[in-house]
Amino acid sequence: MNATTPYTGRLAPSPTGALHLGNARTFAIAWLRARLQGGRVIMRMEDLDHPRDKPGAAAAAYEDLRWLGFDWDEEHVQSERREYYREAVAKLASSGLAYPCTCSRRDVESAQSAPHAGEQLHYPGTCRGRWRSWDEAAAAIAPRVPCWRFRVEPGTRVGFTDAFYGYYEQDVASALGDFPLARDPDGAGYTLAATLDDCLMGVTEVVRGDDLLGATPGQILVARALGFEPPGYFHAPLVVSSDGFRLAKRHGDTRIASMREAGVAPERIVGVLAWWCGWAEFGEELTLASLLDRFDPRAIPPSPAVLTEQVKRHLRIDS
Ligand code: GLU
Ligand code: ZN
Repeated sequence: MNATTPYTGRLAPSPTGALHLGNARTFAIAWLRARLQGGRVIMRMEDLDHPRDKPGAAAAAYEDLRWLGFDWDEEHVQSERREYYREAVAKLASSGLAYPCTCSRRDVESAQSAPHAGEQLHYPGTCRGRWRSWDEAAAAIAPRVPCWRFRVEPGTRVGFTDAFYGYYEQDVASALGDFPLARDPDGAGYTLAATLDDCLMGVTEVVRGDDLLGATPGQILVARALGFEPPGYFHAPLVVSSDGFRLAKRHGDTRIASMREAGVAPERIVGVLAWWCGWAEFGEELTLASLLDRFDPRAIPPSPAVLTEQVKRHLRIDS
């Protein structure tokens, strides 16, 4: 980003469930970072994950975010943007950078040469050059559906300086191999769609949870392959339960809508988000806009924020 490019940020919820405290904290950081730089905020609903998407979840997310004090300048819905994804995946396929893969998860698992950390399995390129087209691949394994994979040449290293985390580098070929782009014939799937949209929408900085840090080098490769300069990144630590796990139902109901229904004020919730970021004392009640005066990325602890018993009592989260 150069000095003349206005900051453009985005909030990119997935309507696979209700907005909870973890999403809200990440979105607060994203919104504050944009507004403090006089930037635009794009709302992008990432509703391509059928059948995990829940009816009504998108409208509920808008409502919950407005209630917490968020606003935005532009609204996009990915399911209405399929023509862009189709065009991009066709471009990548015609240059040999994307290809259909018919391997099952078990096929990929049994091809692992070493035990792999994290959710992402390493893919050795089994289906490179195997199918002439998506349709041919799809017919061969129906009713299973192929996925599009992105071709990564050996020795492809990508490094970038994350605005929160610092320098991060990955040998994409040995970490991920040919990673998945989408599980849809038209390329409408998370990696392709989110990467392309960030570029087409002129996003200058992606602020999101650090669970996606390891997926970023691949997204940088995709952006470049599509002819774009990738955005900057700010990966914030997640909120975890007191046992150190990602928030899940068994840790209590952390949905923003449930707290609202229980009579918890939005300022009380925002106060907790700010406390987690090191910008407030515990128990302060604050509006989102008032955090513009307190925002300091250096105060955000590098370790995950914890949903403690004290937070649960304060926000009437029962478990
Ligand atoms: N829609 C994704 C999610 O809710 C966010 C992806 C991103 O920020 O790149 O997990
Ligand atoms: Zn394959």
